[in-house]
Amino acid sequence: MLNALKPYHLGFSGLALGHHHYDFDIGSKFFDCFEESEIHAGKVKVDLDLEKQKKMLVLHFDIHGAVEVVCDRCAYEYMQPIAGKEEVYIKFGPEYIEEDDDVLVLPQGSHEVDISQMLYDFIHLMVPYHRLHLPDENGNPECNKENLEILERLAPKENQIDPRWEVLNRLKTD
Ligand SMILES: [Zn+2]
Repeated sequence: MLNALKPYHLGFSGLALGHHHYDFDIGSKFFDCFEESEIHAGKVKVDLDLEKQKKMLVLHFDIHGAVEVVCDRCAYEYMQPIAGKEEVYIKFGPEYIEEDDDVLVLPQGSHEVDISQMLYDFIHLMVPYHRLHLPDENGNPECNKENLEILERLAPKENQIDPRWEVLNRLKTD
């Protein structure tokens, strides 16, 4: 287990029945533990209410903050606000199964649950599909102007002739 993820392994065997509260501050240390992570920096607060019932655990996550992603328009990083609530039910059975998006079965006799992968997935899913700098006071996205200019210069011109047609045209005139 990576040390930075240790706090996300919640031991529950010693907990009394009822609600237990946990706070997490997620930043680059967390995301660095996941090689494939698209997000590398951010400031995300997680309020977790763990409800221990006789035969089940119910996790209520309240996630809010911002993560650094790359803007689709100007290819520059910006902080994308994210927020959402998630619920996960943890049941016990013969073996570990992810029964559903929100139902996890842990082997009977487990003492702890690793919530790092859940949090990783929730945060990534909260980032909108289209990433765009937030609008300024005039409603225009606050894109990086220098980057936009470079991208515009590099973008193919719409009226540019396909080079293959150019060759044909030259043959015709010859
Ligand atoms: Zn932008």
